Amino acid sequence: MIRRRVTVLGSTGSVGSSTLDLMARAEACGTGAFEVEALTGGGNIARLAEQARRWRPRIAVTADPARLEELTRALAGTGVAVAAGEAAVVEAAQRPVDWTMAAIVGSAGLKSAWAAAGTSAILALANKESLVCCGPALIERVRAAGGRLIPVDSEHSAIFQVFPAEAPERVAKLVLTASGGPFRQTPAARMGAITPEQAVAHPNWSMGAKISVDSATMANKGLEMIEAAYLFSMPEHRIDVVVHPESIIHSLVEYVDGSTLAQMGPPDMRTPIACALAWPDRIEWPAPPLDLPALGKLTFEAPDTERFPALRLAREALRAGGAAPAIFNAANEVAALAFLDRKLSFLNIAAVVAETLERATKSGMTFGSGDACGAALSVDVEARGLARSIVSDLAKAA
Ligand code: NAD
Ligand code: MG
Repeated sequence: MIRRRVTVLGSTGSVGSSTLDLMARAEACGTGAFEVEALTGGGNIARLAEQARRWRPRIAVTADPARLEELTRALAGTGVAVAAGEAAVVEAAQRPVDWTMAAIVGSAGLKSAWAAAGTSAILALANKESLVCCGPALIERVRAAGGRLIPVDSEHSAIFQVFPAEAPERVAKLVLTASGGPFRQTPAARMGAITPEQAVAHPNWSMGAKISVDSATMANKGLEMIEAAYLFSMPEHRIDVVVHPESIIHSLVEYVDGSTLAQMGPPDMRTPIACALAWPDRIEWPAPPLDLPALGKLTFEAPDTERFPALRLAREALRAGGAAPAIFNAANEVAALAFLDRKLSFLNIAAVVAETLERATKSGMTFGSGDACGAALSVDVEARGLARSIVSDLAKAA
């Protein structure tokens, strides 16, 4: 029986909801018992209130101060405390628990992930953007606080499960798998007309809108390459990406003796979440089976960095180091959201990232003084401003 007191940051999103669903299933089959300290969400008050009624956390927090009254009304008589605003989300992340799921999307998740990293709780990290913005400092902060960071991103969960942490010199290479997204086979000439509706329709995974766009541009794999470099202390040239459209092998570790270990499972985020929830144990929830005969075959191909330049840009940012990964992340987030708002074409997402990185490098944009989280956030704000002005120039030119 796995018993945990947990907080879920971003509980109303795709990963947050999957986390609570997994916990409910484990409780239903008698393998888990959970108490919830805090749930935090954004503007979806109905879902947050429904989750709070089911789980009875000590506190439910909306990031949007304008929605506090609505949340208060929705939870009247339940005994669940309510709060709103960014500072309240950070306060929720600092409460003593055994396990915190960090599943806020984008660099909006950085402050609360940083706060949770300063406690001794296990930090189940789905918010890859915080690792990309200040990975080494975030990892060190968890270590110094006596906590443990367990990656939730399926590729990193896969590597985490087959990586020899006690003897990293045995590893030759990490191999990240990528589904290739919905436009894997779309000819370059047709990619200019891609709509947000087409981009968020991922063939294998059901996810939030921003990461779905990132998967479609393959910026997601770029972010994941940076994430892997920090999590497993691996230089850029020892991280390969292979397209694997079935999303069954979630990533691989190649050892120096020629042996390669892979982790497999159906494309369902509840499995990597379960791995993080029970670690070092395993929890039955019960998971959907992997039916290999039904799958028949698994296929692989090299990524096309001509049609998906985000992957190459992420490699360049990782090689450049310093603030470049944070700038890559900020520009990509601005561009992906502008595309979702129909203010930018699909192909211009990578163009905005490239231009932002180039101008930021020329202007010497770098981390300032202060703690790593504050320094990363100020680069994030600066790079977003630059990316927004590039988006609006492109919109005027169109
Ligand atoms: P989502 O959009 O479905 O959910 C995001 C959550 O963050 C929601 O609860 C939302 O209310 C909250 N949120 C948004 N803006 C906020 C703000 N400014 N302040 C506080 N809270 C805010 O996103 P998702 O798909 O669940 O992804 C969450 C994170 O997990 C992302 O970093 C993503 O890259 C990562 N991830 C997701 C998946 C997946 O399958 N969805 C897989 C791997 C990694
Ligand atoms: Mg992933």
